[in-house]
Amino acid sequence: MKAVIYEGTRKVRVENVPVPKLLADTDVIIRVTAASICGTDIRLYWGTMTNVMPMIDGEPLGHECVGVVEEVGQAVTGLKVGQRVVSPFSVHCGTCYYCEHDVLTRCESMQIFGVGKGFGAPLGGCQSEYVRVPLAERVLLKLDERVSDEHATVLPDVLTGVFAGMECLRGGETVAVTGCGPTGLAAVMCARLLGAGPIFAIDHHEDRLAIAAGLGAIPINFDHVDPREVLRGHTGGRGVDVVADTVGKIGSVNTALPLARPYGTMILLGYIDPSETLPIGIASLNHIQIRSALVPAIRRYQPRVMQLIADGRLDPTPLLSHVLPLADAARAYEMMSERQDGAIKIVLKP
Ligand SMILES: [Zn+2]
Ligand SMILES: [Zn+2]
Repeated sequence: MKAVIYEGTRKVRVENVPVPKLLADTDVIIRVTAASICGTDIRLYWGTMTNVMPMIDGEPLGHECVGVVEEVGQAVTGLKVGQRVVSPFSVHCGTCYYCEHDVLTRCESMQIFGVGKGFGAPLGGCQSEYVRVPLAERVLLKLDERVSDEHATVLPDVLTGVFAGMECLRGGETVAVTGCGPTGLAAVMCARLLGAGPIFAIDHHEDRLAIAAGLGAIPINFDHVDPREVLRGHTGGRGVDVVADTVGKIGSVNTALPLARPYGTMILLGYIDPSETLPIGIASLNHIQIRSALVPAIRRYQPRVMQLIADGRLDPTPLLSHVLPLADAARAYEMMSERQDGAIKIVLKP
């Protein structure tokens, strides 16, 4: 079968590899019908996550896919061949301390698809024709027929994760979202759905700001104006109730923090390298609550987000800029990496 393989910094290739086999009675093999490229894949491609997820030449990529059940292990009774299913980006055991406390992405034996041996070899990658899913009945979710394959690719990670992170909104909050990539646009969508407003989107790419504006946000281009001044102008000089950072660079977090009003909330949605440190004084002085929402319990929120998509209350369309054949993965990675042709998030079809 064809699979997207990491080759080295800024290099991926599509290679023929063996089709995965059932290794345990609780496994399922799915035939992938759509797989998306994540910001994490791009960081692996850039080589900027090597201290957390070291990759070597030959390792498969991809942790976001949708597919059809192809083969089930003997102990699997709740899934049938031919059913459409979606996976979270990770596999959880269901029995450890964290699983019992419903924080599945901290599972003590968590495995992640397609991010190298540090997280669960021999799990394969999702950007391939077939993938083996361990503990499949616990992990896989049957897909609502009203949700397309392309739209379902936001369920394993980005939209579900952002929804979980923004779920603390109760409605009526002023919100600023920094960064208008896939995560930032998802944050704008979720803030809107949860009744927040006004919502401000901060970036300096005009095309992305235009998409955020289309989703109901007030765009702020930091190349032209000082976001702090603009936000203070809209909030009686106080700052916004909630700031959601999706850039994940410490410089961005640092400039985002003072955008929140005293007793406001800062939600960290982007991946921040663990070696980064934050001057915490402004948060202490202003009583800012900092909430880390990096990859929360995806599987717990997936049924709800799937329902919201099925009901037309969340529309993933603006997050998915291109659909390309899996064979064009090298081009797709380059497009997303360099933001060519307005690339936001790219879906690969095997
Ligand atoms: Zn992802
Ligand atoms: Zn567990």
